[in-house]
Parts: sequence; structure tokens; C-alpha cells
Amino acid sequence: MAETKKKGLALHWQILIGIGLGIVAGIVLCKIAPFESWSKYIKWAGDIFLRGLRMIVIPLVFTSIALGVAGMGNSAALGRIAGKTLLYYIATTLIAATIGLTLVNIVRPGVGASLNLAEEVTSVGSGNVSFIDQIVSIVPANIFEAMARGDLLPVIFFAIIFGFFMNKVDIKHAGTLTNLFTAIYEVIMKITFFIIRLAPYGVFAIVTCVVGRQADDPQALLGMAGSLGVFVLVVWGGLLLQGGVVLPLLVRLLGKQNPWRHISKMSTALLTAFSTCSSGAALPINIRDSQEKCGISNKVASFVLPLGSTINMNGTALYECVTAIFIAQAYGIDLSLAQQIMIVFTALLAAIGTAGIPMAGMVMLTIVLTAVGLPLEGIGLVLAVEQLCDMPRTCINTYGDSCGAVIIAHSEGEQLTI
Ligand code: ASP
Repeated sequence: MAETKKKGLALHWQILIGIGLGIVAGIVLCKIAPFESWSKYIKWAGDIFLRGLRMIVIPLVFTSIALGVAGMGNSAALGRIAGKTLLYYIATTLIAATIGLTLVNIVRPGVGASLNLAEEVTSVGSGNVSFIDQIVSIVPANIFEAMARGDLLPVIFFAIIFGFFMNKVDIKHAGTLTNLFTAIYEVIMKITFFIIRLAPYGVFAIVTCVVGRQADDPQALLGMAGSLGVFVLVVWGGLLLQGGVVLPLLVRLLGKQNPWRHISKMSTALLTAFSTCSSGAALPINIRDSQEKCGISNKVASFVLPLGSTINMNGTALYECVTAIFIAQAYGIDLSLAQQIMIVFTALLAAIGTAGIPMAGMVMLTIVLTAVGLPLEGIGLVLAVEQLCDMPRTCINTYGDSCGAVIIAHSEGEQLTI
């Protein structure tokens, strides 16, 4: 992540090396001894990495969402802007997720991946639960039980309610809670950086085991590589639709501005997001150019953009949908329509809880996979192409925020200079 710069070799290279070594180790080990005899000595490293990701999700999501909602404040003008902003964020994120869902169902990139992964799957949850039951279960009967079970949707629901009512109590108490949550959030972010630095080792172990199980079937492995290529194309295609058609259309229709001039004025922020994989890093440039180049007021820019950089992630939601269904396809799991709709809503909530830092979307993928009972090991498969997906999705995340600022500013009667 951002911190790896100090260490020399960038993390994505380390991950790629981990994958390369994992492929070699899987093939070699399989030649030496049967898979069952050595896999347990390697698999634990992958398990620790995946468990580490799950470990941080609950506190990360709870604090980031409660702080984001509480940060919306209480005044009437802010309430109005906040309402419009939330509506815009939720609507565009749902559109993005739906585009991802549609494309991945049409192209079906995981289906050709004939890896014999299905053996790993013991159960796919929520198959028999009705859609209404799933909605009802979003309201936790016991928040601690939901947290202990790692049940993300009820936790997110509670975090939103909690953040909302933080603004309704005495300012002294609200301040105490804000300080506490900010402190927890910062610590969890540090732990997140630490765990993600372990990715090369985790990936090495996961890939070694996946390859080792298949080493006597090179055709299947080649099929997997081809499927990953198509998977990346589906992600890019979906992001292009969202960033090249849907969002520009909204800027034109709702913001009454020329979308291409807007993109050119925001190009520094967009390129920063693309190259750093961090919409948080692009945020200061986004705020500056929105005000100086596009003429958006400080009131709108300083509210809509920071909020957007934490909760509005069009690209991430699209990616989560495509990836979850790709993994289901690769494992030969048929998802019902209700489960696919569940993926769209979970992707929306996961995107809200995603921090604007590199690879955060991958951490949140655990939520989406868990929600429909898909195997977390699937993350090991898509990690190979994480960098290729993180760059464009971060760019679309930042662009979505910027379009939101234009549209909200226009709706507030501001004269823009795009
Ligand atoms: N890297 C993305 C961002 O900063 C988050 C993600 O990983 O999806 O916006």
C-alpha cells in the first residue's frame, strides 16, 4: 500500500512474485509428493492472511460508517445537501453494481475456468432464505451477536443508526464518541496496512495449494489464466460504461454541464487516483480543482467530496459484484436471483465501508463473499490481477465523487465555470 514505497519493491510486484513462486512451488511440490502430504504445511499462511482480513472488517466498517454518517452534521442546509448527496451516491453505486452484475452474467468469465475448485465448497448459505427474511435480518436483534458472527449487514445498519444519533446527543458526548471512533479507526487502518503487507506470503500459500491440487492438469491452469484475463476485461468494460456513459450522462442531464470539459478539468485528480490506487490520496486535488477549475463552492466541495471519498465507491461496488460472481462461476456454484440481488446490496454496503486506500476493496470482498456463503479462498484467485482492477476502479470512484459535486452544486443554484 502507500507505505510500501519506503520498502523499495512496490507491493503489487511483491504479490506478483508471490503468485509466480506459488505457481512454481505448486508444480514442483506435486512432482515430489502427493498434495495431501504437504499442503497442510503451506495452507496455514493463506488461512492466516484471510483470517487477518476478516479480523479487521468489523471495527473498520463500524467506525468508518458511524463517523461518516455523524460527520454529516445537523444544520438544515447541510441536511438538504446531505440528503441529495446520499441519494446520488446510493443511486449511482447501485447502477454501477448492476452494470457489473449484468456484464459478468453475460460474459461468464469464470465458467471456462475448469479448475476443480468445487470440492472445496461445503455449503453455499442463504439459498433457502427468502428475500424478505434477508431484509428483516438486516436489523440486528443483538448487535454483539451480529458482530461476533461477522454478520456485516446488521453491523452496517447499526453503524448508520448510531452515526445518525451521535448528532442528536449533547455535543460533549458526541465529541467524545467522535474522538474515540477516530482513534480506533486510525489504529485499525495501521493494522490494515500491516495485514495487506502480508499479502505476498498469503497469496504464495493460496496459489501453491490451488496449483498443487491441479498440477497434473495443465490445461485447467491455462484455462484459469485465460478466465482471469476475461475477468479483467469485464471489470474494465463495466467501469468504462459507468465512467464513459452513465456518469457523463448524469453530469449533462442533472448538472447541465459539458461532461468532457469536466473530465479534462478534473484530469489531475483522476490520474492521481488511477496511479496511486487511492481515492483518499486524490481527495485534496479533487477538492482544489473542483473549486478552482469548476467553480464549485467551498460549502459543497468540502462536504460532498470528503464524504464521497469514504462512502461513494462506484468502481469498487462494480468490482465487488463482478468478482463475487466470477468466484461463484469458477467454483461451479449456481447463484439464485435472490442471492445475486443480495450481492448487489452487499456490494453497495461494502463499497460504503471501503476506505479510500489501495486494495481496500479486496478487504471488503470478504463481506460480499460471506453474505452469500461463497468461499473466501476465491480472493486468492483474483489477487493476481488486483492491481489491474484497483487502478481503474479507484479512478471511477474519484470521478463519481466529482460528478456528484457538480450535480449537487448545480442543484443548489451555483454558477459553475466548466
Ligand atoms: N483503492 C480504492 C480507492 O481508494 C478502494 C478499493 O480498493 O476499491 O478508492
